[in-house]
Amino acid sequence: MALRKILFDGDPILRKKSKPVTIFNSSVVELFDDMQETLDKQQGAGLSAVQIGILKRMFIIYDGKTPIRIVNPEIISTSGKCKTTAEGCLSVPGKWGDVERPNNVLARYQDQHGNFVEKTFTGFTCKTFCHEYDHLEGILFIDRATNLFDTYEEYHKFKQKQEKKGNK
Ligand SMILES: [Zn+2]
Repeated sequence: MALRKILFDGDPILRKKSKPVTIFNSSVVELFDDMQETLDKQQGAGLSAVQIGILKRMFIIYDGKTPIRIVNPEIISTSGKCKTTAEGCLSVPGKWGDVERPNNVLARYQDQHGNFVEKTFTGFTCKTFCHEYDHLEGILFIDRATNLFDTYEEYHKFKQKQEKKGNK
């Protein structure tokens, strides 16, 4: 396993569409191992291959404490509205904002060996799935975000004020 360098917003690679994985061999597993190490080092909720400069439709998301390796995902259907709106990204360090995401996503994808899986992700995991899926399309959360701030502290302060107003 090896730590990989994460690309930051402004790098044109992050704006490209990732390509499907067609060959499932040990290099897919090795790339996932590197992504896992890189993600855990940053304590993130998810990481796409494009974020380390590899334009392949692969990402890892945490479902609770369990990391799930996802290849060639397709969204079959979505429903509901996720309660959590706060969002950040390892490729857009510091920035936080609100993004509305569905609460449930039914997805079809392949695991790291090429086996097809159909699974529903819910709540925060659904949010992470949608965020990572966007990466494969060259979309960053800042394209969708409202109430975008340069630091988590500023974002948090804004949200606290908003909550106080809401409670009056
Ligand atoms: Zn991201």
